[in-house]
Amino acid sequence: MNRNGSHEGVRAWGAASILLIEDDHDVREEVSVALGSLGWEVIPVTSGEEALDLYSRTPVDLVLLDLGLPGLPGMEVLRQLRARSDVPVLVMTAAGGLEDRVSGFDFGADDYVVKPFELAELERRIRAVLRRATGPRPEDVLHGPSDIRLHLRAHETYVGVRQLHLTPKEFQVLKVLLSRRGEVIAPDELSVEIWGYETFGSRNYVEAHVSRLRGKLAEAGAVDVINTVRGVGYMVR
Ligand code: CA
Repeated sequence: MNRNGSHEGVRAWGAASILLIEDDHDVREEVSVALGSLGWEVIPVTSGEEALDLYSRTPVDLVLLDLGLPGLPGMEVLRQLRARSDVPVLVMTAAGGLEDRVSGFDFGADDYVVKPFELAELERRIRAVLRRATGPRPEDVLHGPSDIRLHLRAHETYVGVRQLHLTPKEFQVLKVLLSRRGEVIAPDELSVEIWGYETFGSRNYVEAHVSRLRGKLAEAGAVDVINTVRGVGYMVR
C-alpha cells in the first residue's frame, strides 16, 4: 500500500500510546477519558516511581507528566526519562510557575500546559509534539537553490521531483556545500572533511567530484549551483 493508501491508518496519530502520570484522581480520569475518546491509548499511573517502572518495560509514544507529584518529584521523573530515551514529554504544571517551565525545558520537556487547561489545548499540543517527534526533523533535509533537497538519513537527493543518483562522495560534497551555504569552501577543507586528508596540492580528485556533481545537478535542471571562487574554493549561494 502506498503512502497515501488506506493502510496509513495503522500509523495514524490515533494509534499513539500515552503514559499519563498524574496523582490527582479527577484530572487523571478526565484526561484519560478525553484522550481515550480521541483514539489514543492512555496508560494512567499515579506516581513517578510507577511510571519509570512501567516505562522500562513498555515504551510509549508520548509521556504526559504532572510536575507536582508526591514522592519522586516530576522534574526528577523527567530527568530520569531523559537519561533513558528521547520520548516526547509534555509537562503539566499547576502553578504555571515560569521557573518550573524553564527548568522543565532544561531537562528536556518538549512542551507544557498550565493547569487548569482546556482539553482542546492539550489535544492540540499532544498532536504537535507527536508530529514533531515522528515527522522528519528539519535538520534531516538540507535545501539548496533550484529546489535541491538532500535527505540526510535516507541518503537521497532531489531536484524538484527528480531524484539524483549521486555516489556517496558526491553526496558528501553536496552536503558540506549546502550545510554551509554562502561560505567559500577550499578544496583542502572538502578533502579533509570527506576523504580525511589534505590535498597536498593535488586537487584533481576534488575537482573531478565537483565536476561530476555539477553535471548531475545540471542534468536535473539545477544549473550553476556550485560556484567556483577562483583561487579560493567552491560555494553554493
Ligand atoms: Ca499533582
